[in-house]
Amino acid sequence: MQEAMYEGKNITLSVLLDGKREISELKKSSAKGAFSCPYCNETLNLKSGNNRIQHFAHRHSESCEPSIESEKYHKQVERESKQHSVIKNFIHDELKAQQKLNKELEVEYGFVAKATEKWRYYPDIIVKNVEKEIAITVLTNVTKNRDERLASQIIKRNTYFKEKGLIPIWFIENTEQSIDLGRHVIHLWEAELNLAMKTPEDLMWETLLNETKSDQSLFELFDYHHQNTPNSYKVRSLYYIQSKEDRIQFSVRRFIEDEQKSPFRAFALNGGYEISLSTAMLTTKTLQLSDPKIEMQLRNSFLQELEQKKKEHLAKQKEIADANRTELLNKRYDSSKRQVSSKNLLTKNHFRTAILEYIKTGRLRLINADDVADYLVLNGASNESYNTGRYKIYSDVCACLDQLAEENIIELSSTGGQRNRTYVVKNI
Ligand SMILES: [Zn+2]
Repeated sequence: MQEAMYEGKNITLSVLLDGKREISELKKSSAKGAFSCPYCNETLNLKSGNNRIQHFAHRHSESCEPSIESEKYHKQVERESKQHSVIKNFIHDELKAQQKLNKELEVEYGFVAKATEKWRYYPDIIVKNVEKEIAITVLTNVTKNRDERLASQIIKRNTYFKEKGLIPIWFIENTEQSIDLGRHVIHLWEAELNLAMKTPEDLMWETLLNETKSDQSLFELFDYHHQNTPNSYKVRSLYYIQSKEDRIQFSVRRFIEDEQKSPFRAFALNGGYEISLSTAMLTTKTLQLSDPKIEMQLRNSFLQELEQKKKEHLAKQKEIADANRTELLNKRYDSSKRQVSSKNLLTKNHFRTAILEYIKTGRLRLINADDVADYLVLNGASNESYNTGRYKIYSDVCACLDQLAEENIIELSSTGGQRNRTYVVKNI
């Protein structure tokens, strides 16, 4: 095995060797009984031979069960960075401190808690709270070369923990984050996507987003580069972790699912935020992993931003509609002159057809009664007007537009600004 109790601390051989102590020195300490098994207390001998890498072995007996399982676990985490055990121990100690305050809480390293059951994979830490068991795993060293293999390993481990009745929670080393908030995009490793969780907080976001009514999708409104627009938004979250000098910092990243194949990406809902370990770990029935107050604020500001985007979008549409209208009026003017000259007057019986053609030809999304009247006059309707300057056909135009609104082809809109009676085109 690679770990031993030494001077009151559970320590691994590599850490001892990193501490600039020669193997021969360590062997001397070992001969004098300085190392013992963290699980059964038996004295350990440090062995180094040509055939096997340096390791500790029980002095008088076979390896005890927990030490065998510990070996299995340490093989499993071999691929992790040095930060892994630092972060893991931090979380463990924090939860242990909470255990003192909450008697229902049981906290143990995964391979210690389940040694007798001889699990195939072990999470770093297992927390039991009343009836729920949570499997916490810290993941470091996610890189391109390892991503594909890691992704399938993670699925296996995740599934395994779930089959064992645990709720798996994964923390990813902070260095893996890549977010471009200006474009609302978060780029992901496949492994990260597989680890994203759906927490109660995600569900609250999901409900909110799916209840938001808008003609355009969120992706479109926020100008997020996308291939497909989902029928309903699926929100998930990732938890990043970073060890700072004397503490651990968590950050929460929440996103709407998007691309499920490489390059993996998603719509970032916000820039996320950092929370302390104790807030993240505030144990109710499961780990909290977020700050409810901040989440509420983030949802509110997201809604505000969304309203702003809708307004911008509408203004843009109106600009396009106006441009189309101007072009249309200019184009129609010549033909209308011909029509007028041939005395082929446009009577109110033909208003409906002409208005529909006006909308279709101009691909208009917004129309208003004055513009429609202008158009009809240019196309041969009577140009008689009142003293106010308004065409006399105006009331007939309005009646015709009301009829189209009743048929749900257009809808009266309040967003007309100074123009009278503006309609949004709906179905045509
Ligand atoms: Zn032992």
